[in-house]
Amino acid sequence: MKFNPEKCSIEDKRMQPFIDPDEIWSLINTVKPTKENVREVINKSLDKQRLTLKETAILVNTTDPDLIEEIKQGARILKEKVYGNRIVLFAPLYIGNKCSNNCQYCGFKVTNTKAIRKTLTDEEIIREVEALEDNGQKRLILVYGEHPEYSAEYIAHTVKLVYSVKKGKGEIRRVNINAAPFDIQGFRTIGQAGIGTYQIFQETYHPEAYRWYHLGGKKKDYEWRLTALDRAQEAGVDDVGIGALFGLYDWRFEVLALVRHTNHLEACYNVGPHTISFPRIKDASGLSVGDKYTVSDADFTKLIAILRLAVPYTGLILTARENANVRREVMQFGVSQIDGGTIIELGGYSKAKLLNREQDLNREQFKINDDRSLNEIISELLDQGYLPSFCTACYRKGRTGEHFMEFSVPGFIKRYCSPNAILTLAEYLMDYATPDVQIKGWNAIEKEIQQLEGHMNTLELRRRVERIKNGERDLYF
Ligand code: SAM
Ligand code: SF4
Repeated sequence: MKFNPEKCSIEDKRMQPFIDPDEIWSLINTVKPTKENVREVINKSLDKQRLTLKETAILVNTTDPDLIEEIKQGARILKEKVYGNRIVLFAPLYIGNKCSNNCQYCGFKVTNTKAIRKTLTDEEIIREVEALEDNGQKRLILVYGEHPEYSAEYIAHTVKLVYSVKKGKGEIRRVNINAAPFDIQGFRTIGQAGIGTYQIFQETYHPEAYRWYHLGGKKKDYEWRLTALDRAQEAGVDDVGIGALFGLYDWRFEVLALVRHTNHLEACYNVGPHTISFPRIKDASGLSVGDKYTVSDADFTKLIAILRLAVPYTGLILTARENANVRREVMQFGVSQIDGGTIIELGGYSKAKLLNREQDLNREQFKINDDRSLNEIISELLDQGYLPSFCTACYRKGRTGEHFMEFSVPGFIKRYCSPNAILTLAEYLMDYATPDVQIKGWNAIEKEIQQLEGHMNTLELRRRVERIKNGERDLYF
């Protein structure tokens, strides 16, 4: 096939596949980075412009250690420019692990007879959410296997249930979803329940590799999954998250495919994904994936930096699959969201107040490697100069999808994101933090407010912080 590296060979059409593996491989095989063009690409990105596939391929193919350092440095600077020092915190809540699919990497696959299957009852969901609220969580992602029991109506029901649970001063203000792809009507039903982001990972974008790992159930259908978030957009769910499971296929291919997916959504719906996730395969009950495509820590760091530069306005999510050291290291190169206080055993939050418990892989989808409490994670973030945030303002003010992109303009962070991070951190400090974290947190807030001087109405911000100290909650700009 003849292909033009500036223009994708497959024309973007709504709900039509858009990945051409030959095109991606031909970029990987032909693009030769030079010092000059690597620097040009980094500079374009620092100018907050999204990179083309070819430009991303230049970064992907860079192997000179000094230039890789420049890529990482560029990512660090860009992150600071676009996101400031905020890190948004969330927690996953597994609702049910029944599954009809047979994904070779996943502990929930239908053929894994050792997996202990469970769907939380409504009462159990309420207890889990109460425990999460007691820890200070405000943003959850609900996770489900793919099973007839987990219909769109059922998922919508669980979303509404989670929003309805209020304990003390606690409440969940944003419920995101990671579940199977639906048809347009299904997405509409779930969207109407008031979800934040609908997240679906393609796992691998390479069609043949996809076939190796997906041996049964609906998930076998590569194209149904590939076009899932198009259907979400058609259904009015304009806030979507994409991802690839790194370790299934060549990481360079997946990075370019993630950028291609971003282009596709922008071309068809005028809005790119809200977030990109890049989980690496971890141990799981019955795991059956070779190590041919294992991604080293060095390549993992590089690919995160490249994604940061390639899609400056897309949030990057790093989960507790990675251990604390890896998280600490890679976060600086562009991550904007992490989970904290994570437990993925079904019913685990209310049961295991003890966090250092042993994980039982027959009860969990995969091994998590950072089981620190939310308070410990916030403590470390503050030590490292980050501003922990539980902000949910944009989504609640309707600043999502295309609108959200419009707001991603200079000054927006200083007027909205940082003040809202401060207000949500103030709530956390008042209601949940340990005394040492309270001291660090209030110091950080004072420093942040001083830095916002001249960029927004800090008098009003200080007033709102005082109102929070006096017991008011959920104040935002
Ligand atoms: N059943 C839904 C689906 O397949 O889209 C929900 C997905 S699953 C509960 C969430 C994600 O976990 C998957 O999309 C996959 O990328 C990831 N995952 C599965 N097995 C994993 C493993 N062994 N290590 C790390 N991540 C894994
Ligand atoms: Fe089921 Fe999702 Fe696990 Fe596949 S990844 S077995 S679909 S829960």
